[in-house]
Amino acid sequence: MPVPRKLRCQVSTVIDHGERVYSIFLSPEKRFPNFLPGQFLHLALDPYDPSSFWPESRVFSIASASSSRQKLRITYSVKGKFTSRMEKELKVGKEVWVKLPYGNFVVSSNTDVVLFAGGTGITAFSAFLERLENDQETSISIFYGARNSDLLVYRSMIDKKVEFCPRLNAWYFFENGNPQKDYEVKGKLSVSSAFDMLDEPLKKEYYLSGPLGMLQSLRADLIAKKIPAEQIKIDAWE
Ligand SMILES: Cc1cc2nc3c(=O)[nH]c(=O)nc-3n(C[C@H](O)[C@H](O)[C@H](O)COP(=O)(O)OP(=O)(O)OC[C@H]3O[C@@H](n4cnc5c(N)ncnc54)[C@H](O)[C@@H]3O)c2cc1C
Repeated sequence: MPVPRKLRCQVSTVIDHGERVYSIFLSPEKRFPNFLPGQFLHLALDPYDPSSFWPESRVFSIASASSSRQKLRITYSVKGKFTSRMEKELKVGKEVWVKLPYGNFVVSSNTDVVLFAGGTGITAFSAFLERLENDQETSISIFYGARNSDLLVYRSMIDKKVEFCPRLNAWYFFENGNPQKDYEVKGKLSVSSAFDMLDEPLKKEYYLSGPLGMLQSLRADLIAKKIPAEQIKIDAWE
């Protein structure tokens, strides 16, 4: 595992996805260290003086794959004080500090997996999905939910991967709006809907990412369906 490094970066692109959800791209003054899909970084908005303490920061999953170490992407939703500051201050050209990589929420490539992503929780999986090859041997089923379909901000990347990678299947859940396709479901992410789509669910490993309340309820439902606790991995955000 690479040793975490602190780097000064510049915001190079900002995408406003609506409903206070944003993606930003960061360009570092030196190349980013290598990292694994599913790892995260600490982002500080105030300047860092290497002879002093690390400033206040929050953690964000690294949404892009490490193949480009000149640029990386995070996606965040405004929740509290810090992310409100991000919304106000993160404009193109703004300097920020990051330290990375951290975390071990890394999806196994040796077993069939099921991924549940709530909202911006998809960022724990997007780098993994982006790197899938078409000769992928184990199966990957992703259930990706958001309040409305416009907030499924990584959907077009996933749709392209589904075309390219026969072992990947994706279903999209949204609370507002009407499903048009048979792989779209109205409502919140749910284990019972997912189990209707899965073959041999007891043999798979489950990865859950997103807000804590959602994860707790999905985990309880998986346990009730007799999935052993050691087959359930969680990346809780609160
Ligand atoms: C592994 C991981 C990955 C994550 N990835 C993403 C992501 O990709 N996108 C995303 O939108 N969110 C992500 N989050 C959540 C994100 O880090 C923030 O916690 C979340 O956005 C809350 O928003 P806020 O900081 O504005 O809220 P705030 O209300 O400002 O604070 C939220 C939490 O931060 C802690 N906190 C408060 N003050 C301080 C302080 N001075 N220093 C340090 N901590 C403090 C508190 O425990 C509080 O519960 C991730 C969290 C984790 C643990």
